[in-house]
Amino acid sequence: MDFTGYQLPEELKMLQTTVRKFVAEEIVSLEHEIDYEAIRLSPEHYRRLSQKAKAAGLWCLGEPAEYGGGGLNTFAYCVVREEMAQHRNGLYGPAYGVLGNPPPAVIYLGTPEQIQKFAVPVIREGHETYYAITEPSGGSDPARAIQTRAKRDSDYWVLNGTKVFIAHVDVAEWGVVFARTDSGKGRAGISCFVLEKGTPGLSFRTIPVIRPLYPFEIHLQDCRVPTSNLLGNEGEGFALLAGLLGKERFPYSAAHVGVCVAALRMAISYVKQRETFGELLSRRQAIQWMLADSDIETRAARWLVWEGAWKMDHGEDYRHEASIAKLFSSEVLMRVIDRVVQIHGGYGVSKDLPLERWYREARVRRIGEGPSEVHRMVIARDLLRD
Ligand SMILES: Cc1cc2nc3c(=O)[nH]c(=O)nc-3n(C[C@H](O)[C@H](O)[C@H](O)COP(=O)(O)OP(=O)(O)OC[C@H]3O[C@@H](n4cnc5c(N)ncnc54)[C@H](O)[C@@H]3O)c2cc1C
Repeated sequence: MDFTGYQLPEELKMLQTTVRKFVAEEIVSLEHEIDYEAIRLSPEHYRRLSQKAKAAGLWCLGEPAEYGGGGLNTFAYCVVREEMAQHRNGLYGPAYGVLGNPPPAVIYLGTPEQIQKFAVPVIREGHETYYAITEPSGGSDPARAIQTRAKRDSDYWVLNGTKVFIAHVDVAEWGVVFARTDSGKGRAGISCFVLEKGTPGLSFRTIPVIRPLYPFEIHLQDCRVPTSNLLGNEGEGFALLAGLLGKERFPYSAAHVGVCVAALRMAISYVKQRETFGELLSRRQAIQWMLADSDIETRAARWLVWEGAWKMDHGEDYRHEASIAKLFSSEVLMRVIDRVVQIHGGYGVSKDLPLERWYREARVRRIGEGPSEVHRMVIARDLLRD
């Protein structure tokens, strides 16, 4: 039996180290200079660092090579994504986009013309994009909640409705919008459209939230979208959505692992130099147990992400694992950040450290990309299926 053990391939380990160094040397150091709540870099910093990343072969690593990306599979991209998250803005803006901004994966199910028109410029230029599913009527159960309507009018679809909590709309070149067409009820009636920036009838307002990357409420009033912007077939939008959200959940979850790693590293360093009652914090069992529990849970989350990503790359059904990875990693993130804040005492909640920001952002991660309750429901439904 040829069994080589649980080792990452050498090439992947080298890439992991390169990304780790890039984030530590270029991003973490820059964060000391810029605003604590910054979610984007100045155009000068963005240009300088993205050119550096491109020259180092670190640009858009997870996107298909045929469209200008690095061509990593999901497993390898998760390994890299864990490193990309290890800085203050890392959860919602890995490396501030200087390593590229992946478009919504659903775009790759479009026609070759759609991929060329929409995905390729995003990969080349690092544009931001969005996906708009959630509506005022709800986000957990989009098959029932989506009320935005798309009506066919010769060569156009005319969209009317409201979406809420949609991130990146203010700067995006385009987004994917899920709307109800006339083709059926429930899941079967939902279609997916590319909505381009500046489309007449598209307006939005900010929804201030706990994290600095504010989402938007979008209003669509008689937005005319060319029929060539329909992704997949009419009425198949929900199937695209279900498949592809699953795919995006492994890198999303890997970011949770990355922030846990960074927070735990800070805690270990702090307890080795902070003294109370004449003794270092590192000598206190109450503190040691917090560190031990955080390490165990972080490693467990990583294995769940890697297992699911590996299954996906091997063509196996990964949806159960995607729910497990998203649910567990987001809850571990909250617990680990909470412990590390506690270990740092008052500094834990000060804006001198990234912990306070991670703490607020971690709270959102249990709601976005499917709230914990919905993932538990999906996991249980799979287990109980005959
Ligand atoms: C900051 C932020 C950014 C976001 N970005 C985007 C985005 O870019 N695009 C986008 O489309 N959406 C986005 N969302 C929306 C997000 O996906 C939804 O908030 C989420 O899906 C939950 O939907 P809801 O808020 O309507 O809650 P609801 O669906 O109303 O659910 C409310 C609560 O009830 C729980 N619940 C629901 N069903 C059950 C059940 N059967 N059993 C037990 N409990 C249940 C849920 O878990 C939740 O906690 C964002 C949200 C936030 C907060």
